[in-house]
Amino acid sequence: MQIPQHITGLRCTICNTLHAPDSGLLVCPDHDNEGILEVEYDYQQIGTTFTREHLAKSGDFSQWRYRPLLPVLPDTPVPPLTVGWTPLVPAPLLAESVGIGSLTIKDDSRQPTGSLKDRASALAVMKAKEAGARVITTASTGNAAAALAGICASVQMECVIFVPASAPEGKIAQLMAYGATIFLVQGTYDDAFELCLQASSKFGWYNRNTGYNPYMAEGKKTAAFEICEQLDWRVPDSVFVSVGDGCIISGLHKGFKDLLELGWIEKIPRLMGVQSAGSDFMWQASEKNADVLTFPAISANTVADSISAGLPRDRIKAARAVSETGGAWLRVADENILAAIPALASSTGIFAEPAAAASLAGLKEAVKAGLITNKENSVLLVTGNGLKDPGATIKACSVAGSKACTIAPDIDEVGKNLPADLKNNC
Ligand SMILES: *Cc1c(COP(=O)(O)O)cnc(C)c1O
Ligand SMILES: [Zn+2]
Repeated sequence: MQIPQHITGLRCTICNTLHAPDSGLLVCPDHDNEGILEVEYDYQQIGTTFTREHLAKSGDFSQWRYRPLLPVLPDTPVPPLTVGWTPLVPAPLLAESVGIGSLTIKDDSRQPTGSLKDRASALAVMKAKEAGARVITTASTGNAAAALAGICASVQMECVIFVPASAPEGKIAQLMAYGATIFLVQGTYDDAFELCLQASSKFGWYNRNTGYNPYMAEGKKTAAFEICEQLDWRVPDSVFVSVGDGCIISGLHKGFKDLLELGWIEKIPRLMGVQSAGSDFMWQASEKNADVLTFPAISANTVADSISAGLPRDRIKAARAVSETGGAWLRVADENILAAIPALASSTGIFAEPAAAASLAGLKEAVKAGLITNKENSVLLVTGNGLKDPGATIKACSVAGSKACTIAPDIDEVGKNLPADLKNNC
Protein backbone atom coordinates (compact mmCIF):
# COMPACT_ATOMS: atom_id res chain seq x y z
CA MET A 1 0.00 0.00 0.00
CA GLN A 2 1.33 3.37 -1.05
CA ILE A 3 1.30 5.99 1.73
CA PRO A 4 1.84 9.73 1.82
CA GLN A 5 5.49 10.33 2.81
CA HIS A 6 4.72 13.14 5.23
CA ILE A 7 2.54 10.98 7.54
CA THR A 8 4.26 9.36 10.51
CA GLY A 9 1.35 7.31 11.80
CA LEU A 10 -2.19 7.01 13.08
CA ARG A 11 -2.45 7.44 16.85
CA CYS A 12 -5.29 5.88 18.84
CA THR A 13 -7.18 8.46 20.92
CA ILE A 14 -7.92 5.79 23.57
CA CYS A 15 -4.71 3.75 24.09
CA ASN A 16 -2.23 6.14 22.44
CA THR A 17 -0.72 3.40 20.24
CA LEU A 18 0.86 4.75 17.07
CA HIS A 19 -0.21 2.56 14.15
CA ALA A 20 1.87 2.45 10.99
CA PRO A 21 0.63 4.81 8.29
CA ASP A 22 0.39 1.89 5.84
CA SER A 23 -1.71 -0.24 8.22
CA GLY A 24 -4.84 0.63 6.25
CA LEU A 25 -6.69 0.98 9.56
CA LEU A 26 -9.56 3.40 10.07
CA VAL A 27 -9.99 2.64 13.81
CA CYS A 28 -7.70 1.08 16.44
CA PRO A 29 -8.41 -2.67 16.36
CA ASP A 30 -8.34 -2.87 20.18
CA HIS A 31 -11.52 -0.88 20.83
CA ASP A 32 -14.06 -1.91 18.22
CA ASN A 33 -15.61 1.13 16.59
CA GLU A 34 -14.61 3.56 19.34
CA GLY A 35 -10.86 3.62 18.76
CA ILE A 36 -10.75 6.76 16.67
CA LEU A 37 -7.34 7.54 15.23
CA GLU A 38 -5.56 10.84 14.75
CA VAL A 39 -3.31 11.37 11.76
CA GLU A 40 0.24 12.48 12.67
CA TYR A 41 2.65 14.30 10.38
CA ASP A 42 6.34 15.01 10.04
CA TYR A 43 6.14 18.78 10.47
CA GLN A 44 9.91 19.17 10.16
CA GLN A 45 9.79 17.71 6.67
CA ILE A 46 6.64 19.60 5.66
CA GLY A 47 8.01 22.92 6.92
CA THR A 48 11.15 22.74 4.77
CA THR A 49 9.21 22.91 1.51
CA PHE A 50 5.89 24.51 2.55
CA THR A 51 5.79 27.99 4.06
CA ARG A 52 3.38 30.89 4.51
CA GLU A 53 5.22 32.62 1.67
CA HIS A 54 4.60 29.69 -0.69
CA LEU A 55 0.97 29.85 0.27
CA ALA A 56 0.75 33.58 -0.40
CA LYS A 57 1.76 32.86 -4.02
CA SER A 58 -0.64 29.95 -4.47
CA GLY A 59 -3.14 30.25 -7.29
CA ASP A 60 -5.23 27.43 -5.86
CA PHE A 61 -8.30 28.98 -4.23
CA SER A 62 -9.66 25.82 -2.67
CA GLN A 63 -8.79 23.74 0.40
CA TRP A 64 -6.20 21.92 -1.72
CA ARG A 65 -3.88 24.92 -1.39
CA TYR A 66 -2.95 23.15 1.90
CA ARG A 67 -2.28 19.82 0.21
CA PRO A 68 1.16 19.31 1.86
CA LEU A 69 -0.74 19.24 5.20
CA LEU A 70 -3.39 16.78 4.00
CA PRO A 71 -3.24 12.98 4.10
CA VAL A 72 -3.33 12.26 0.37
CA LEU A 73 -0.80 10.94 -2.13
CA PRO A 74 0.77 13.48 -4.49
CA ASP A 75 -0.93 12.12 -7.61
CA THR A 76 -4.47 11.41 -6.36
CA PRO A 77 -6.81 13.52 -8.50
CA VAL A 78 -8.82 16.26 -6.78
CA PRO A 79 -12.59 16.08 -7.47
CA PRO A 80 -13.74 18.82 -9.85
CA LEU A 81 -16.12 20.67 -7.48
CA THR A 82 -14.33 23.57 -5.77
CA VAL A 83 -14.26 22.87 -2.04
CA GLY A 84 -13.04 25.35 0.57
CA TRP A 85 -11.54 28.86 0.53
CA THR A 86 -14.97 30.12 1.57
CA PRO A 87 -15.38 33.81 2.44
CA LEU A 88 -14.47 35.28 5.82
CA VAL A 89 -16.89 38.15 6.29
CA PRO A 90 -16.59 40.99 8.85
CA ALA A 91 -19.81 41.44 10.84
CA PRO A 92 -19.45 44.80 12.66
CA LEU A 93 -23.18 45.30 13.19
CA LEU A 94 -23.56 41.93 14.79
CA ALA A 95 -20.42 42.44 16.91
CA GLU A 96 -21.92 45.65 18.24
CA SER A 97 -25.33 44.19 18.94
CA VAL A 98 -23.81 41.19 20.71
CA GLY A 99 -21.40 43.44 22.60
CA ILE A 100 -17.92 42.21 21.63
CA GLY A 101 -14.85 43.81 20.05
CA SER A 102 -15.01 42.23 16.63
CA LEU A 103 -16.75 39.41 14.87
CA THR A 104 -16.00 37.68 11.60
CA ILE A 105 -18.03 34.97 9.98
CA LYS A 106 -16.50 31.99 8.23
CA ASP A 107 -19.20 31.29 5.70
CA ASP A 108 -19.25 27.60 4.84
CA SER A 109 -22.84 27.87 3.67
CA ARG A 110 -21.05 28.69 0.40
CA GLN A 111 -19.60 25.22 -0.18
CA PRO A 112 -20.65 23.37 -3.37
CA THR A 113 -23.30 21.26 -1.63
CA GLY A 114 -24.07 23.94 0.96
CA SER A 115 -22.26 22.74 4.07
CA LEU A 116 -18.83 22.40 5.65
CA LYS A 117 -19.10 18.61 5.16
CA ASP A 118 -17.78 19.05 1.61
CA ARG A 119 -14.31 19.53 3.12
CA ALA A 120 -14.40 16.02 4.56
CA SER A 121 -16.32 14.29 1.79
CA ALA A 122 -13.93 15.46 -0.93
CA LEU A 123 -11.07 13.95 1.06
CA ALA A 124 -13.08 10.76 1.68
CA VAL A 125 -13.59 10.26 -2.04
CA MET A 126 -9.85 10.67 -2.66
CA LYS A 127 -8.99 8.21 0.14
CA ALA A 128 -11.55 5.75 -1.22
CA LYS A 129 -9.90 5.99 -4.67
CA GLU A 130 -6.47 5.44 -3.10
CA ALA A 131 -7.87 2.36 -1.34
CA GLY A 132 -9.17 1.05 -4.67
CA ALA A 133 -12.80 1.20 -3.54
CA ARG A 134 -15.70 1.30 -6.00
CA VAL A 135 -18.45 2.05 -3.44
CA ILE A 136 -18.37 4.46 -0.50
CA THR A 137 -20.92 4.75 2.30
CA THR A 138 -21.91 7.04 5.14
CA ALA A 139 -24.58 7.59 7.75
CA SER A 140 -25.51 11.20 8.22
CA THR A 141 -28.10 13.58 9.61
CA GLY A 142 -28.15 14.87 6.01
CA ASN A 143 -25.28 17.19 5.19
CA ALA A 144 -22.42 14.69 5.23
CA ALA A 145 -24.55 12.52 2.97
CA ALA A 146 -25.39 15.36 0.59
CA ALA A 147 -21.71 16.29 0.46
CA LEU A 148 -20.65 12.72 -0.24
CA ALA A 149 -23.35 12.23 -2.87
CA GLY A 150 -22.42 15.48 -4.63
CA ILE A 151 -18.70 14.82 -4.71
CA CYS A 152 -19.33 11.21 -5.78
CA ALA A 153 -21.50 12.45 -8.65
CA SER A 154 -18.66 14.73 -9.73
CA VAL A 155 -16.30 11.76 -10.13
CA GLN A 156 -18.94 9.12 -10.94
CA MET A 157 -18.29 7.01 -7.84
CA GLU A 158 -21.07 4.91 -6.29
CA CYS A 159 -22.32 5.86 -2.83
CA VAL A 160 -24.78 4.34 -0.38
CA ILE A 161 -26.41 6.70 2.12
CA PHE A 162 -28.13 6.07 5.47
CA VAL A 163 -30.09 9.05 6.85
CA PRO A 164 -32.94 9.32 9.36
CA ALA A 165 -36.28 9.35 7.52
CA SER A 166 -36.96 12.63 9.36
CA ALA A 167 -34.09 14.47 7.60
CA PRO A 168 -35.15 17.87 6.12
CA GLU A 169 -36.57 17.75 2.62
CA GLY A 170 -33.83 19.94 1.13
CA LYS A 171 -31.15 17.45 2.10
CA ILE A 172 -33.11 14.44 0.83
CA ALA A 173 -33.78 16.30 -2.43
CA GLN A 174 -30.03 16.79 -2.87
CA LEU A 175 -29.37 13.09 -2.33
CA MET A 176 -31.98 12.14 -4.91
CA ALA A 177 -30.72 14.63 -7.49
CA TYR A 178 -27.09 13.53 -7.08
CA GLY A 179 -28.14 9.95 -7.80
CA ALA A 180 -27.08 8.32 -4.52
CA THR A 181 -28.46 5.00 -3.33
CA ILE A 182 -30.52 6.22 -0.37
CA PHE A 183 -31.83 4.45 2.72
CA LEU A 184 -34.24 6.54 4.80
CA VAL A 185 -33.88 4.80 8.15
CA GLN A 186 -36.91 4.73 10.44
CA GLY A 187 -34.95 5.75 13.51
CA THR A 188 -32.46 8.31 14.77
CA TYR A 189 -29.10 9.31 13.34
CA ASP A 190 -27.55 6.99 15.93
CA ASP A 191 -29.59 4.09 14.47
CA ALA A 192 -28.55 5.02 10.94
CA PHE A 193 -24.92 5.13 12.07
CA GLU A 194 -24.98 1.61 13.56
CA LEU A 195 -26.72 0.26 10.47
CA CYS A 196 -24.18 1.87 8.16
CA LEU A 197 -21.26 0.38 10.11
CA GLN A 198 -22.83 -3.07 9.82
CA ALA A 199 -23.54 -2.63 6.11
CA SER A 200 -20.06 -1.38 5.32
CA SER A 201 -18.47 -4.38 6.99
CA LYS A 202 -20.96 -6.81 5.41
CA PHE A 203 -20.60 -5.44 1.86
CA GLY A 204 -17.01 -4.23 2.05
CA TRP A 205 -17.70 -0.58 1.10
CA TYR A 206 -15.32 2.24 1.97
CA ASN A 207 -16.53 3.85 5.19
CA ARG A 208 -16.74 7.65 5.36
CA ASN A 209 -18.53 7.86 8.69
CA THR A 210 -17.95 10.92 10.85
CA GLY A 211 -16.15 10.09 14.07
CA TYR A 212 -14.95 6.83 12.58
CA ASN A 213 -12.89 7.60 9.51
CA PRO A 214 -9.84 9.53 10.83
CA TYR A 215 -9.44 11.49 7.60
CA MET A 216 -12.72 13.40 8.04
CA ALA A 217 -11.31 15.68 10.75
CA GLU A 218 -8.31 16.20 8.44
CA GLY A 219 -10.60 17.58 5.75
CA LYS A 220 -12.44 19.77 8.22
CA LYS A 221 -9.23 21.21 9.65
CA THR A 222 -8.79 23.25 6.47
CA ALA A 223 -11.43 25.65 7.86
CA ALA A 224 -8.93 26.54 10.63
CA PHE A 225 -6.13 27.02 8.08
CA GLU A 226 -8.34 29.36 6.07
CA ILE A 227 -9.46 31.37 9.11
CA CYS A 228 -5.81 32.03 10.03
CA GLU A 229 -4.63 32.79 6.52
CA GLN A 230 -7.62 35.02 5.73
CA LEU A 231 -6.97 36.98 8.95
CA ASP A 232 -3.38 37.41 7.80
CA TRP A 233 -2.23 34.99 10.53
CA ARG A 234 -3.72 37.13 13.32
CA VAL A 235 -5.39 34.43 15.35
CA PRO A 236 -8.79 35.30 16.87
CA ASP A 237 -9.44 34.96 20.61
CA SER A 238 -12.26 32.48 20.18
CA VAL A 239 -14.10 30.45 17.56
CA PHE A 240 -17.74 29.47 18.02
CA VAL A 241 -18.82 26.23 16.42
CA SER A 242 -21.90 24.08 16.73
CA VAL A 243 -21.31 20.49 17.81
CA GLY A 244 -23.13 17.25 17.02
CA ASP A 245 -20.65 14.38 16.62
CA GLY A 246 -17.80 16.72 17.46
CA CYS A 247 -15.82 16.16 14.27
CA ILE A 248 -15.83 19.78 13.11
CA ILE A 249 -14.57 21.14 16.44
CA SER A 250 -11.93 18.37 16.53
CA GLY A 251 -10.91 19.20 12.98
CA LEU A 252 -10.55 22.90 13.83
CA HIS A 253 -8.42 22.00 16.85
CA LYS A 254 -6.20 19.81 14.67
CA GLY A 255 -5.84 22.55 12.10
CA PHE A 256 -4.75 25.12 14.66
CA LYS A 257 -2.36 22.57 16.24
CA ASP A 258 -0.79 21.89 12.82
CA LEU A 259 -0.16 25.60 12.31
CA LEU A 260 1.28 25.98 15.80
CA GLU A 261 3.63 23.02 15.15
CA LEU A 262 4.80 24.68 11.94
CA GLY A 263 5.36 27.94 13.81
CA TRP A 264 2.92 29.79 11.55
CA ILE A 265 0.76 30.98 14.47
CA GLU A 266 1.61 31.77 18.08
CA LYS A 267 -1.51 30.66 19.91
CA ILE A 268 -4.65 28.62 19.45
CA PRO A 269 -8.03 30.33 19.85
CA ARG A 270 -10.42 29.17 22.54
CA LEU A 271 -12.78 26.69 20.95
CA MET A 272 -16.36 27.26 22.07
CA GLY A 273 -18.57 24.22 21.45
CA VAL A 274 -22.27 25.01 21.05
CA GLN A 275 -24.90 22.34 21.56
CA SER A 276 -28.67 22.38 21.45
CA ALA A 277 -30.39 21.90 24.80
CA GLY A 278 -32.11 18.93 23.16
CA SER A 279 -28.81 17.31 22.16
CA ASP A 280 -26.35 18.27 24.84
CA PHE A 281 -24.23 15.17 25.51
CA MET A 282 -20.94 17.08 25.55
CA TRP A 283 -22.31 19.86 27.73
CA GLN A 284 -23.75 17.36 30.23
CA ALA A 285 -20.58 15.29 30.39
CA SER A 286 -18.54 18.43 30.93
CA GLU A 287 -20.87 19.73 33.68
CA LYS A 288 -20.54 16.42 35.49
CA ASN A 289 -16.83 16.19 34.84
CA ALA A 290 -17.54 12.76 33.38
CA ASP A 291 -15.39 10.60 31.11
CA VAL A 292 -16.98 11.06 27.68
CA LEU A 293 -16.01 7.55 26.64
CA THR A 294 -18.20 5.91 29.27
CA PHE A 295 -20.86 8.62 29.76
CA PRO A 296 -24.15 7.05 28.61
CA ALA A 297 -25.83 8.09 25.36
CA ILE A 298 -28.67 10.57 25.71
CA SER A 299 -31.84 10.74 23.67
CA ALA A 300 -31.45 13.63 21.24
CA ASN A 301 -34.27 15.80 19.96
CA THR A 302 -33.73 19.23 18.43
CA VAL A 303 -34.84 21.45 15.56
CA ALA A 304 -31.15 21.70 14.63
CA ASP A 305 -31.08 18.30 12.91
CA SER A 306 -27.40 18.53 11.91
CA ILE A 307 -26.32 18.58 15.55
CA SER A 308 -28.74 15.95 16.79
CA ALA A 309 -26.52 13.14 18.15
CA GLY A 310 -27.31 11.04 21.21
CA LEU A 311 -23.76 9.67 21.29
CA PRO A 312 -21.27 12.07 19.67
CA ARG A 313 -18.89 9.81 17.77
CA ASP A 314 -15.92 12.14 17.99
CA ARG A 315 -16.48 12.93 21.66
CA ILE A 316 -12.95 12.18 22.85
CA LYS A 317 -11.33 14.58 20.41
CA ALA A 318 -14.13 17.14 20.88
CA ALA A 319 -13.71 17.16 24.67
CA ARG A 320 -9.98 17.76 24.21
CA ALA A 321 -10.59 20.54 21.69
CA VAL A 322 -12.48 22.52 24.32
CA SER A 323 -10.42 21.64 27.41
CA GLU A 324 -6.98 22.03 25.80
CA THR A 325 -7.81 25.45 24.36
CA GLY A 326 -9.45 26.84 27.49
CA GLY A 327 -12.77 26.99 25.64
CA ALA A 328 -16.22 26.23 26.97
CA TRP A 329 -19.33 24.19 26.28
CA LEU A 330 -22.49 26.16 25.66
CA ARG A 331 -26.06 24.95 25.60
CA VAL A 332 -28.78 26.84 23.75
CA ALA A 333 -32.53 26.35 23.57
CA ASP A 334 -34.16 25.53 20.23
CA GLU A 335 -36.09 28.81 20.29
CA ASN A 336 -32.82 30.74 20.57
CA ILE A 337 -31.35 28.71 17.69
CA LEU A 338 -34.37 29.54 15.55
CA ALA A 339 -34.23 33.24 16.50
CA ALA A 340 -30.56 33.32 15.50
CA ILE A 341 -31.42 32.49 11.86
CA PRO A 342 -33.10 35.84 11.02
CA ALA A 343 -30.77 37.69 13.43
CA LEU A 344 -27.77 36.50 11.42
CA ALA A 345 -29.37 36.77 8.00
CA SER A 346 -30.85 40.26 8.46
CA SER A 347 -27.63 41.75 9.86
CA THR A 348 -25.11 40.11 7.52
CA GLY A 349 -26.92 38.61 4.52
CA ILE A 350 -25.72 35.14 5.52
CA PHE A 351 -28.52 32.58 5.60
CA ALA A 352 -27.80 29.64 7.90
CA GLU A 353 -29.65 26.43 8.65
CA PRO A 354 -30.63 25.92 12.31
CA ALA A 355 -27.49 23.99 13.31
CA ALA A 356 -25.32 26.66 11.70
CA ALA A 357 -27.14 29.57 13.35
CA ALA A 358 -26.69 27.80 16.69
CA SER A 359 -23.14 29.17 16.80
CA LEU A 360 -24.58 32.70 17.04
CA ALA A 361 -27.00 31.64 19.76
CA GLY A 362 -23.96 30.19 21.56
CA LEU A 363 -22.02 33.43 21.20
CA LYS A 364 -24.88 35.36 22.78
CA GLU A 365 -25.02 32.82 25.59
CA ALA A 366 -21.26 33.17 26.18
CA VAL A 367 -21.57 36.95 26.46
CA LYS A 368 -24.46 36.57 28.88
CA ALA A 369 -22.51 34.10 30.99
CA GLY A 370 -19.46 36.39 31.07
CA LEU A 371 -17.29 33.80 29.33
CA ILE A 372 -15.85 36.34 26.90
CA THR A 373 -14.99 40.01 27.29
CA ASN A 374 -16.34 43.03 25.43
CA LYS A 375 -12.94 43.29 23.67
CA GLU A 376 -13.11 39.73 22.32
CA ASN A 377 -12.23 39.05 18.66
CA SER A 378 -14.39 36.12 17.72
CA VAL A 379 -15.03 34.02 14.66
CA LEU A 380 -18.40 32.42 14.07
CA LEU A 381 -18.34 29.31 11.92
CA VAL A 382 -21.46 29.05 9.77
CA THR A 383 -21.56 25.39 8.85
CA GLY A 384 -24.59 24.99 6.58
CA ASN A 385 -26.94 26.84 4.25
CA GLY A 386 -30.43 28.00 5.23
CA LEU A 387 -31.90 26.65 1.98
CA LYS A 388 -31.31 23.15 3.33
CA ASP A 389 -34.29 23.53 5.64
CA PRO A 390 -36.54 26.46 4.64
CA GLY A 391 -39.41 25.12 6.76
CA ALA A 392 -37.49 25.78 9.98
CA THR A 393 -36.71 29.32 8.87
CA ILE A 394 -40.27 30.17 7.92
CA LYS A 395 -41.35 28.94 11.34
CA ALA A 396 -38.60 30.95 13.02
CA CYS A 397 -39.47 34.16 11.19
CA SER A 398 -43.19 33.83 11.82
CA VAL A 399 -42.48 33.47 15.52
CA ALA A 400 -40.29 36.59 15.29
CA GLY A 401 -43.30 38.46 13.85
CA SER A 402 -42.07 38.96 10.30
CA LYS A 403 -44.65 38.14 7.69
CA ALA A 404 -45.02 38.15 3.93
CA CYS A 405 -48.04 40.09 2.68
CA THR A 406 -50.24 38.36 0.11
CA ILE A 407 -52.04 40.85 -2.17
CA ALA A 408 -54.03 41.08 -5.41
CA PRO A 409 -52.00 42.41 -8.37
CA ASP A 410 -53.31 45.96 -7.72
CA ILE A 411 -51.18 49.09 -7.04
CA ASP A 412 -53.64 50.35 -4.41
CA GLU A 413 -53.05 47.16 -2.46
CA VAL A 414 -49.32 47.92 -2.45
CA GLY A 415 -49.89 51.42 -1.08
CA LYS A 416 -52.31 50.22 1.58
CA ASN A 417 -49.95 47.58 2.91
CA LEU A 418 -46.67 49.47 2.69
CA PRO A 419 -44.82 50.48 5.91
CA ALA A 420 -44.92 54.29 6.22
CA ASP A 421 -41.14 54.75 6.07
CA LEU A 422 -40.98 53.15 2.62
CA LYS A 423 -43.48 55.51 0.98
CA ASN A 424 -40.71 57.63 -0.49
CA ASN A 425 -37.07 57.08 -1.36
CA CYS A 426 -35.39 59.95 0.49
C1 LIG B 1 -22.40 18.25 10.73
C2 LIG B 1 -22.82 19.62 11.06
C3 LIG B 1 -22.54 20.21 12.30
C4 LIG B 1 -21.86 19.49 13.43
O1 LIG B 1 -20.66 18.85 13.10
P1 LIG B 1 -20.12 17.65 13.99
O2 LIG B 1 -18.85 17.27 13.41
O3 LIG B 1 -21.18 16.56 13.88
O4 LIG B 1 -20.03 18.14 15.38
C5 LIG B 1 -22.94 21.50 12.51
N1 LIG B 1 -23.62 22.20 11.58
C6 LIG B 1 -23.91 21.66 10.38
C7 LIG B 1 -24.67 22.48 9.39
C8 LIG B 1 -23.52 20.37 10.07
O5 LIG B 1 -23.85 19.84 8.90
ZN1 LIG C 1 -6.24 1.84 20.73
